[in-house]
Amino acid sequence: MDNNARSSPLDNALEQFDTAASYLEVPPGILEKLRYPRREISVHFPVKMDDGSIRMFSGYRVQHNDTRGPFKGGIRYHPTVDLDEMRAMAMWMTWKAAVVNIPFGGAKGGVQCNPKEMSPHELENMTRRFAWEISPFIGPDQDIPAPDVYTDPQVMAWIMDTYSILKGRAVAGVVTGKPLELGGSVGRFEATGRGVFIIAEEAAHVAGFPLEGARIVIQGAGNVGGTAARYFHRAGSKVVAISDVNGGQYHPDGIDIETLLMCRDQYKCFIDEQVHDRHLATEEITNEELLELPCDILVPAALENQITRTNASRIKCRVLVEGANGPTTPQADAIMIERGIFIVPDILANAGGVTVSYFEWVQNLQNLLWSENEITDRLNTIMRRSFGEITAIAEEKKIDLRTAAMVLAVKRVADAVKLRGVYP
Ligand code: NAD
Repeated sequence: MDNNARSSPLDNALEQFDTAASYLEVPPGILEKLRYPRREISVHFPVKMDDGSIRMFSGYRVQHNDTRGPFKGGIRYHPTVDLDEMRAMAMWMTWKAAVVNIPFGGAKGGVQCNPKEMSPHELENMTRRFAWEISPFIGPDQDIPAPDVYTDPQVMAWIMDTYSILKGRAVAGVVTGKPLELGGSVGRFEATGRGVFIIAEEAAHVAGFPLEGARIVIQGAGNVGGTAARYFHRAGSKVVAISDVNGGQYHPDGIDIETLLMCRDQYKCFIDEQVHDRHLATEEITNEELLELPCDILVPAALENQITRTNASRIKCRVLVEGANGPTTPQADAIMIERGIFIVPDILANAGGVTVSYFEWVQNLQNLLWSENEITDRLNTIMRRSFGEITAIAEEKKIDLRTAAMVLAVKRVADAVKLRGVYP
């Protein structure tokens, strides 16, 4: 991959914002306010490692906007985590919550680390110390973290426990994506992948092909990509390729997804002799090759900056559904739109996660438990309604879906800012 073609996620987020702003009549001062995060927290903290040494880690929580409700957004553990990445992700979270019209603002956080090289005990120590460091700035009415890349329900449980110890009582609503035993919601683990699938169904309908038999390619087989793969597989689509950080597996007639995901869980790896022993008859491919496979629907569900001006002209899908945050640069967007690819942007396509996080938070605040059917029905309604609203804006203004989603989101937030006014 040509690294020069990758742009800073924040530059990408701001370029998307400026494009949307040009379609809106919002006072320039309010637009300027929305280009900045409200608060940025950087913490540098020591962690005791298993060998007795002490290692310093850097962590961040960027709170972009809380005009419409408490800050909301994931916590990422990855070597590339930095303030710039968190600023972009926090801003995208504000737009995402506004796109699906749920009363949250946007935030994002993370620790720069390689969790794959840490023991569970070291991960717990790091999580608890990070949670302690950011604890004055989070809370059910203030800022509610959730899982993101390389964090999971167990990490959320440690954050909840650390925060609860500080408060002297159990505070379930401080994080979402918790284990069910601690007030997590049924359907939250699957929510983002399920949302991706619902939106793909809508998009395929608009593009004029059925999901049954459609060829699907998925980059990333984690929470989002793995879950989406399951839904596509169950709907009779052919998942022809899927990858993890090490590379992908390909079969032109479709892969047995349940078996492959079992290998992932068992061996923590996709590229492994055991995968071949399962007689899946798949071929190994690189992540770069995977993105360029001919298919009906491509779902990037790993990291940002995967489709750039370098490979955009070689992407051969009919529909691109962004499971990851920021997988496509603005330059790549322009190239693919020109080539007639139907792009469903991240702030709509992966909003199922924040939507069910909202359901989890509401249940925690009210000490209620909703059934799986209630969650699924509500998620379906919100995702399909949002898709309809955005396609209507796109048709009316003759703009692409990303710009339409941003127009809807920025207008909702800007209207709220105008109503609250600028203090003093
Ligand atoms: P995850 O940690 O569960 O899975 C990440 C997957 O991506 C893994 O399969 C990993 O091997 C793979 N991966 C990592 N680096 C890669 C690389 N360089 N090339 C190819 N594959 C790579 O994370 P997740 O929660 O599934 O998140 C994936 C994306 O979806 C991220 O962009 C995240 O911000 C976004 N997202 C997640 C949620 C959520 O609820 N978890 C919600 C909205 C958006």
